[in-house]
Amino acid sequence: MGRYLITAALPYANGPIHIGHIAGAYLPADIYYRYRKMKGDDVIFICGTDEHGVPITIRAMQENTTPEKVIEKYHKIIKESFDKLGIIFDNFSGTHRDIHFKLSQEFFLNVLKNGYTVVKEQEQFYCENDKMFLPDRYIYGKCPKCGYENAKGDQCEKCGTTLDPTDLIDPKCAICNSTPVIKKTKHWYFVLSKFEKQLKEYLESKKDWKPNVRDFALSWIKEGLKDRPISRDLNWGIPLPIEEAEGKVLYVWFEAPIGYISSTIEWAQKIGQPDKWKEYWLNPETKLIHFIGKDNIPFHAIIWPATLMAQHGDWILPYNIPANEFMNLEGEKISTSRNWAIWVDEIVEKFPPDAIRYYLCLVMPETKDSNFYWKEFQEKVNEELANSFGNLVSRVLKFLNSKNNGVVPTPNENSFENIDLQVLKNIEEIVESIGNSLEKFEFREAIKYLREIAFLGNKYIDDVKIWKLTPGTTEFNNKLYVSVQVIFSMALAMYPFMPFSSVKILKMLGYDEDFIKQVRWDDIPKIKVKIGSKISPDIEPLFTKIPDEVIEKEIENLKRIGQKEKISIDSVEEAIDIDYFKKVDLRVALVKEAEKLPKSKKLLKLIVDIGSTTKQIIAGIGEHYKPEDIVGKYIIIVNNLKPATLMGETSYGMLLAAKDENGRLILLTVDGEITPGSKVS
Ligand SMILES: [Zn+2]
Ligand SMILES: [Zn+2]
Repeated sequence: MGRYLITAALPYANGPIHIGHIAGAYLPADIYYRYRKMKGDDVIFICGTDEHGVPITIRAMQENTTPEKVIEKYHKIIKESFDKLGIIFDNFSGTHRDIHFKLSQEFFLNVLKNGYTVVKEQEQFYCENDKMFLPDRYIYGKCPKCGYENAKGDQCEKCGTTLDPTDLIDPKCAICNSTPVIKKTKHWYFVLSKFEKQLKEYLESKKDWKPNVRDFALSWIKEGLKDRPISRDLNWGIPLPIEEAEGKVLYVWFEAPIGYISSTIEWAQKIGQPDKWKEYWLNPETKLIHFIGKDNIPFHAIIWPATLMAQHGDWILPYNIPANEFMNLEGEKISTSRNWAIWVDEIVEKFPPDAIRYYLCLVMPETKDSNFYWKEFQEKVNEELANSFGNLVSRVLKFLNSKNNGVVPTPNENSFENIDLQVLKNIEEIVESIGNSLEKFEFREAIKYLREIAFLGNKYIDDVKIWKLTPGTTEFNNKLYVSVQVIFSMALAMYPFMPFSSVKILKMLGYDEDFIKQVRWDDIPKIKVKIGSKISPDIEPLFTKIPDEVIEKEIENLKRIGQKEKISIDSVEEAIDIDYFKKVDLRVALVKEAEKLPKSKKLLKLIVDIGSTTKQIIAGIGEHYKPEDIVGKYIIIVNNLKPATLMGETSYGMLLAAKDENGRLILLTVDGEITPGSKVS
């Protein structure tokens, strides 16, 4: 028996989570946790939301609310998503809590006291309008290399050049679009380089880590570890507990992982054993396992261990970091800003949690990036879950009800045939293989083994032609018993992967909900299904098939972009303030006269009535509208544009038209008669 402390990356509380997050960290963590419990290990599963940092303050500004409200809202949404997927932590905390403040400040003071910090003065952009220092990503401007207008302060997305915000031509604040000023500020830096040797030894000793994780971390060290700022100028976060750092808070990369510890402390308090957390965090026997996505590797494999080393305490270091790669969606990178994502809070309302878990485990991005395809999801649910797993269970149980009065028959093991012994032996081997795969964090392989049990079970029933046997005979009893034993063992082995279905099968077999909690993994092949007990007369299908139209609707939905609620802060540079939009004076205008401008194919000269007056507008719609077709139409114009001269004629406004992919223009108009000059809002 070992002691394990399992964590999953702290989800950021400024938006809901998507399936890529689940496949990347939470599902493998949950499967592993359930497996370790079944192995009889002393194991706890710890998580919580990451609740500080600039994106949360900006989200609050956008939603016209407070950061507290933002984190409260998303903590709840995220927690519910996990619950519905059956991802159950021993504790799910948050980093905006007293325990966490206290511990993080203590960590900072130790780093300071032990001589691992340096203070540096620097110049940084400051927005006087928003009254804040702007992080690099919240500054945009023209790229000095390629001239792209919307380059971010850290990188130009167009040409890929890495930038410093001061490189930008005409830098702007991405929150309010005003021009920021440069201000002096000072920051505390963590001198990571002091841990280079220690970290290298630590990482080199981790020979059983995934190569991607270990190699990536070692390559970071090879390049030389740079000092990293621990503090930032912000009013949302954990204040640095020293006088000379007033107005500064701890950088999230420093304090968030401490959340693993503070959440464990919170758990210990909740269960009424306030010191129990020490058995995990301060005991070198504990195996600390961090489940994360690949973007978190440097933080968990280098910076976090260094933070722990810098405490000069007895903290354990990560034992393993089985990081996953990324999951894409329909061949494209998941993008929260484009809403190219499947949100967990939505998918759990439409499909059974085990169907989602099953497919995500099959296509988990274990060694390379993978893909979620709706069609493939449907195929796996229909062909494997419904046709194979589900069909096996309902065949056996229905047969038991119809031919043996719902009673599990007593076998005569002495007269078991080869085929009976073989299927039971195969299952024993498969269960062992599943365990071996899970020990190596090979979840895809593990679930494929599980799938074999269902295949084997169906094949067994077909081979022995159970429906042809005479009830009451030894052969009938033996074959039926073995069939029930197969689905029973399958239900037990399913538990880490598909806990809901596992319990459902067991309940239909007459077991109570908590039975599974006493089952030890290594005993699965040995535990025999209760003989003589009566099963439930109501056999529910384990999984139902997903019809084509349901999946097609999902694909259609995905391709239609724009649920505003789900647009994250990543899109802030494209977003404009409502007040900004209100500055545009849109009016309904009635077209009184229209004529072609001589020498121009494209331009029409319009005289429009806007109630109080008439206006001349020069519009580039000559290739799409004849002058006579447009007279009498109510159109929408921008009324407060600076006059512009086109081909010698002055235009005092601009009309609105929609353009399709072929370049065809259709004028915007109003749905019914209205007084010319009416405001559009
Ligand atoms: Zn560029
Ligand atoms: Zn600003």
